[in-house]
Amino acid sequence: MTILITGSSRGIGAATAIAAARAGYEVCINYRKNEKAALEVKLRVEELGAKCIAVQADVSEEREVISLFETIDQELGPLTALVNNAGGLDRQATIFDLTAERINHILRHNVTSTFLCCREAAKRMAKSRGGAGGAIVNVSSVAAKTGAPGEYTDYAASKGAIDTFTLGIAKELAPEGIRVNTVRPGFIYTDIHADGGEPGRVDRIKSTLPMQRGGKPEEVAEAIIWLLSHKASYTTGSFLELSGGRV
Ligand code: NAP
Repeated sequence: MTILITGSSRGIGAATAIAAARAGYEVCINYRKNEKAALEVKLRVEELGAKCIAVQADVSEEREVISLFETIDQELGPLTALVNNAGGLDRQATIFDLTAERINHILRHNVTSTFLCCREAAKRMAKSRGGAGGAIVNVSSVAAKTGAPGEYTDYAASKGAIDTFTLGIAKELAPEGIRVNTVRPGFIYTDIHADGGEPGRVDRIKSTLPMQRGGKPEEVAEAIIWLLSHKASYTTGSFLELSGGRV
């Protein structure tokens, strides 16, 4: 079993790389900028006995996506699992502050990247193209349902696009032996909130959640690994909330 987790130098992606190693995968870690952090995750994966490569690629760039998948072909062998985790947000803003540059940046990094990586994975996994099938998990957000008013409406809408794309390709790829599902994390302790300008966001919100706490990256990772596994063999086109009861 071979897995690619995009954006796995930190946060949910890094936790998923480690959970994948425990589940017996050979792991491709992907990062955009932070090589040091990626190599630290690689070391932890290797300590668990898994073969691992760490590949720099900005997955919003088509050429870099193609090269990333070719590197996996050459160094790890046939891909069986993909986690489209790379993504991010901009500073908290209302509609009055949205610009075309900001909107296009969010869409490229969250949406274009996911679509392109799904395409490259499907080419390799599809039974009609000689593949052996596989599984994909797209990382959306509970924001796709709440809309994130006053904070990240552009980000929330980009996650809505991922949800709709999941529905379409899950149906398109089911006869090809490929399952496609989505997780929707809610308020998880990672550095993404600092990128939005509020490092303490999860602690501010947690008392309003039914479970009254934020989530850990490892809790999202376990759900992703389950959706990829044969234990979820009849599950495709599904959405799993990891949001402490906020749905
Ligand atoms: P994070 O801590 O900010 O980590 C983001 C990771 O993605 C980093 O490893 C970063 O690598 C990488 N990355 C970003 N853009 C990339 C690109 N274009 N190409 C390759 N790598 C890229 O984020 P996180 O909180 O773990 O979030 C992971 C996913 O969960 C995201 O899709 C996010 O939208 C979603 N999510 C998170 C939460 C939450 O509360 N944390 C809630 C809902 C959904 P570099 O550092 O090298 O750039």
